Amino acid sequence: MDFQQHSNIQAQQSQLQPQVQPPHHQPQPLQHQIALPDVSTLSTAELAIQQSLLPQRSTISKGKYTLNDFQIMRTLGTGSFGRVHLVRSVHNGRYYAIKVLKKAQIIRMKQIEHTNDERRMLKLVEHPFLIRMWGTFQDSRNLFMVMDYIEGGELFSLLRKSQRFPNPVAKFYAAEVTLAIEYLHGHNIIYRDLKPENILLDRNGHIKITDFGFAKEVSTVTWTLCGTPDYIAPEVITTKPYNKSVDWWSLGILIFEMLAGYTPFYDSTPMKTYQKILNGKVHYPSFMHPDAVDLLSRLITADLTRRLGNLHNGPEGIRNHPWFSEVVWEKLLAKDIETPYEPPITGGIGDTSLFDHYPEEQLDYGANGEDPYSQYFLDF
Ligand code: AMP
Repeated sequence: MDFQQHSNIQAQQSQLQPQVQPPHHQPQPLQHQIALPDVSTLSTAELAIQQSLLPQRSTISKGKYTLNDFQIMRTLGTGSFGRVHLVRSVHNGRYYAIKVLKKAQIIRMKQIEHTNDERRMLKLVEHPFLIRMWGTFQDSRNLFMVMDYIEGGELFSLLRKSQRFPNPVAKFYAAEVTLAIEYLHGHNIIYRDLKPENILLDRNGHIKITDFGFAKEVSTVTWTLCGTPDYIAPEVITTKPYNKSVDWWSLGILIFEMLAGYTPFYDSTPMKTYQKILNGKVHYPSFMHPDAVDLLSRLITADLTRRLGNLHNGPEGIRNHPWFSEVVWEKLLAKDIETPYEPPITGGIGDTSLFDHYPEEQLDYGANGEDPYSQYFLDF
């Protein structure tokens, strides 16, 4: 097993689901996110979510953000389209994380729809185990998303340092992930990129799922091939229509990786990994608890009529599984359960010691020249 991060495949839009091209629009001046969404652009379902769940978000500064509201600090992570920086608000001195996406790169990789979806999903969701986004803005070259800064680093780093987690530790993280995914599915959102790199730990050791780059609001089925090879469900590889249960397959892979220290279908190339996924043979190490093996064999199953989470009782089937028998779900949701690990945030607020270092580059943020792509990102 190499210790490289799992890299996600660039979503290839299937022919069944072409990229939506927004109507042409006159180039606009710098747009900044307003605190409340433009409800006229929301579907009925989105509105219902907004009204039932997503109320009282106070903003860090009322109204619109600009780059001038933040002092940009070090890079916390990099993605396919840009980087995530630690920033400090010049108004309240608080730290946030800003994800910066290069428009040209998004266009080049045909990710316009996914990027707009990411922003929309992040604005819709509010849950203790999901990252909170405060607002977005753009300049002529980049898109910016302002989020809470989660200081404890990636679950991925903790897992690689620990090699593998003891049964109760894996169970704790798996249980919090289950609640987050259940919440998303309850709002018809498929997450589609569950993996330890996208799970951050807050200062108390609770999880926050980040990176909604592949999240999609879907009430029935969808077709887009996207995700991360080791974590992809077989029905996604074969480009069949698929539903929310792809996330439950990925939960199985995540639990396996936490318990074993490697993914069940790992191989040297994505093609070989896909082959193994389609063959569907999983070898469970003897040290795995029998309850865990039972749960995993019901999640990592190609047969959708048997996959836990996709049965008549939905996610309850997962929560009621014997492996989770000692989890008190209401207490967990209320964060009223001691976490197995408290990240050592020694440097106080704004400490970044738990994040890897990335070479910093000359930043082109704040340009307000001609913007050939403004019509694609009207909501930012
Ligand atoms: P993403 O492109 O969203 O996957 O982000 C890339 C990396 O940046 C993540 O894997 C994290 O290491 C880091 N990161 C993203 N969002 C945050 C955040 N809100 N707080 C701290 N680090 C973050």
